[in-house]
Amino acid sequence: MLSDIEIAQAARLTPIDELAHSAGLADAEFEPYGRDKAKVDLDPARKERGRLILVTATSGMPAGSGKTTTSIALAQGLKKIGKSAVLALREPSLGPVFGMKGGAAGGGYSQVLPMEAINLHFTGDLHAITAANNLLAALLDNARHQGQVELREIFWRRVMDVNDRMLRNIVSGLGGPANGIPTEAGFDITAASELMAVLCLADGMEDLRARIDRIVLGIRKDGTAYTCKDLGATGALLALLKDAMKPNLVQSIEGNLAFVHGGPFANIAHGCNSLAATRAALKLGDFAVTEAGFGSDLGAEKFIDIKCRMAGLKPAAVVLVTSTKALKWHGGVPLPEIGKPDVEALRKGLCNLDAHVRNLKNFGPEIVVSLNHFHTDTDEEIDVIRNRCAELGVRFAVCDGFARGGEGAVELARAVTEAADEPRELHFTYDEDASLLDKVTAVVRKVYGGEGIELSEAAKKDLKRIVELGFGNLPVCIAKTPFSLTADGKALGAPTGFTVPVQRFILNAGAGFVVVTTGAVMRMPGLPKAPAAMQIDVVDGKITGLA
Ligand code: ADP
Ligand code: MG
Repeated sequence: MLSDIEIAQAARLTPIDELAHSAGLADAEFEPYGRDKAKVDLDPARKERGRLILVTATSGMPAGSGKTTTSIALAQGLKKIGKSAVLALREPSLGPVFGMKGGAAGGGYSQVLPMEAINLHFTGDLHAITAANNLLAALLDNARHQGQVELREIFWRRVMDVNDRMLRNIVSGLGGPANGIPTEAGFDITAASELMAVLCLADGMEDLRARIDRIVLGIRKDGTAYTCKDLGATGALLALLKDAMKPNLVQSIEGNLAFVHGGPFANIAHGCNSLAATRAALKLGDFAVTEAGFGSDLGAEKFIDIKCRMAGLKPAAVVLVTSTKALKWHGGVPLPEIGKPDVEALRKGLCNLDAHVRNLKNFGPEIVVSLNHFHTDTDEEIDVIRNRCAELGVRFAVCDGFARGGEGAVELARAVTEAADEPRELHFTYDEDASLLDKVTAVVRKVYGGEGIELSEAAKKDLKRIVELGFGNLPVCIAKTPFSLTADGKALGAPTGFTVPVQRFILNAGAGFVVVTTGAVMRMPGLPKAPAAMQIDVVDGKITGLA
């Protein structure tokens, strides 16, 4: 089989204006960015009419579970059975593209195109967010330098969209008084920034303004919060973000409309594409298929408890992606061996599937388990998973969208339409007005399967201050390893009886949540021993090696 990028480069794309017109968009509703990408700004009179399908997965493993691939396959499969299905996906970050994981535009015959553009500069949204974030940092430091404000503590950090561990902790402003105030500072990756979350959760430009106004930059000498509104920087940030707020329209390899917009990570941020993209997909499709990053403990929990609650969204059904590889890994098989048949290890790893099904049942919507088919899977292995799903009372489908595109996802598409026909209430993990501690504890008990939490001294101080500042009732966005249901990436399967160590509570008043860091989670990743960047090149004008 050809590589992802070879398949992508051989595909014929419909010109974006043709695609937009065929979906009924008026000229005023989209602005082409080149031949095959467009920014979309739909007529406000359009109503959301589609049913929302959330794609999530069992616990992660270093190779990725195939959620993006399955989401795209599902949309293509729905198209094959005569439904209009529009995708809403995250924009890739350059961190993973050049780091460990590679691109995030799907795989095989289930990709969104043009994959090189989507994985690299695309329409410049991540650059715009980076620039806006760093303009705010510069304006803040300038106000301090000019003596306009004195802060006891500074929260706002700089960002960039490259994995660079050297910048995690730095001292800036060295070189004497003309060069600023020496300050302990640091960089986060753009995909983990508050501004990324703000852009993704904003419901239109006025909400974007209100959220940016609310961002707390630091604490004044008198203990009060100093906000972006106090600094007076909101207008300039809006100018930088105006176009980045509009969802990007591209296409799947089989011609589905796809909105690829906003890219917060799911382990260290809230993990789903922009609300603007989700709403656009709901307006244009019978089905809007969206992915929440990593397992149901991370992306799906935050999708439901943060995004659905804030925006009034309700998934009609949830697809839980799993694979023989992921379950064998959770059954204790080392990474290089997970492609080999091993029914015993697979059975051992089923406990991870059980835990995710249990989690998702708590949220309410019907579940379809989708087995992301690898060519190494044996019939016996597939039957083990199929039988467990029957015991758990959830629908099951094999999805071979990677090798066969939409044709390979027809079984999944049928199961999803059936599931979506069964209306269910949506349940949140915690009440809106519960305390921050109760919220984190509820997620740990109901979603991770643990006992409770343990606060560091720093976390206790943070909590006290966040409550004093009046933000004690925000939802929580928990930063946690994707490789385990616990906060310890090595604890595979479905552990019980554990506690989750909470390091810090970080106020994101603009995003409207409190980030809770657990275990050893980094907001600026490092590069691995063999970065994906080392395989990438340009040969005869074409990019090669992007995976
Ligand atoms: P996720 O969205 O869960 O992180 P992706 O869909 O991005 O996962 O897939 C991760 C990687 O695995 C991609 O490089 C993709 O091409 C590859 N992949 C996904 N599904 C399959 C499959 N069924 N067979 C072979 N490779 C696959
Ligand atoms: Mg993905």
